[in-house]
Amino acid sequence: MQHGSDILIIGGGVIGLTTAFQLAGQGVSVTVVDRQRVGCEASWAGAGMLPPGDMATAATPESRLRSSSYEMWEQFSVQLREVSGIDNGYRKCGAVEVGPAGAVMELQIQQWQAEGLDCETLDRAALERHVPGLNPEIQRGAYLPEFAQVRNPRHLKALATACQRRGVEILEEVGPISVRSQGRSVEVTSPSRHFGADRLCLTAGSWTGQLVKPLGVELPVAPVRGQIAQLRVGQLPFSCVIERGRRYMVPRADGLILVGSTEEYVGFEKRNTTEGISALLGFAESIVPELGAAEVVRCWAGLRPGSPDELPFVGPLPGYDNVFVGAGHFRSGLQMSPATAAVLADLMLDRSPAISLDGLGLNRITIPATV
Ligand SMILES: Cc1cc2nc3c(=O)[nH]c(=O)nc-3n(C[C@H](O)[C@H](O)[C@H](O)COP(=O)(O)OP(=O)(O)OC[C@H]3O[C@@H](n4cnc5c(N)ncnc54)[C@H](O)[C@@H]3O)c2cc1C
Repeated sequence: MQHGSDILIIGGGVIGLTTAFQLAGQGVSVTVVDRQRVGCEASWAGAGMLPPGDMATAATPESRLRSSSYEMWEQFSVQLREVSGIDNGYRKCGAVEVGPAGAVMELQIQQWQAEGLDCETLDRAALERHVPGLNPEIQRGAYLPEFAQVRNPRHLKALATACQRRGVEILEEVGPISVRSQGRSVEVTSPSRHFGADRLCLTAGSWTGQLVKPLGVELPVAPVRGQIAQLRVGQLPFSCVIERGRRYMVPRADGLILVGSTEEYVGFEKRNTTEGISALLGFAESIVPELGAAEVVRCWAGLRPGSPDELPFVGPLPGYDNVFVGAGHFRSGLQMSPATAAVLADLMLDRSPAISLDGLGLNRITIPATV
């Protein structure tokens, strides 16, 4: 059986669905196919943190994607709610960075200030105003008032619903999709059908490297496991995100706190471990000691699509006409999804993307091989 549309997107995570939503809003016929239910992988598992950015000062590929996305998030969330009727929980909650103390922290503060971001340094008294039960050993920090968050499962549900309401065809649980080279174009099949489209967009998260292998492209996107513990407290002891290096706590409005996350290179093994969860619980208690008495509600793990330079691959697939990739967003796929989708939509509609692809294109480290 042959199935056709203008654009076929393989992989219905946050990158694929946001791209579909934007394209459908521009009158394009889009199909999203996923081997399982959409929005159930890394995009569901993430913590939903949206760090601020400012396009006026964005000078790196990372800050361009972060800032451009950040400037879209508020309006995007309103639009999603209007189309889907679902509130994704977007709110500016602020974030307190509590270390590590010393030079690293000072450098980070200087970097935020150089980017023109609103950033206050905090002494102990100011820290206590944001986080009343903070471990007394923590004496210094910084506050980013513009830091925001969304609730991932709600955001994904809103996205999938909004896509459908805009006419996107979402084909779920189609089984593994495979791609085969046909000269400069690509044949797409599932166990039961062939898919045709003018343009193909590959957004299969951690699996994108495997997906493109039969096309003779070595795309170094590999899974990096992240575990999360969800706690419940009677009354939230803080309302802002708390970060210490790569660990964090994200409070939700209904008294839940996400504690994240581990960074583990263990292939496609998506599960929790005693070691990972104990480290996260120890971290929570070391920052806010009263969390030692919190209820552990549930734990989960997700596979971040990692890349060697921790930046995503966004752009045309070398050696092919009309095949595009958006994958490898590592720890930032949710926050960078609006701008990534805008770039992909521009490329697929033959427009020049609003932000530069320098440092993001696939030609930077892919190794084309002979098929
Ligand atoms: C614990 C954790 C915390 C995180 N916290 C944050 C955060 O606070 N902020 C942030 O911005 N980012 C965060 N991230 C990172 C973010 O979640 C990811 O970067 C992002 O979700 C990647 O989205 P994606 O659409 O590329 O991939 P995914 O969400 O993994 O989606 C890929 C989709 O492709 C499908 N697929 C795969 N192979 C095939 C195939 N062959 N055929 C058809 N379909 C296929 C899968 O079923 C899946 O639905 C976190 C991640 C984790 C794990």
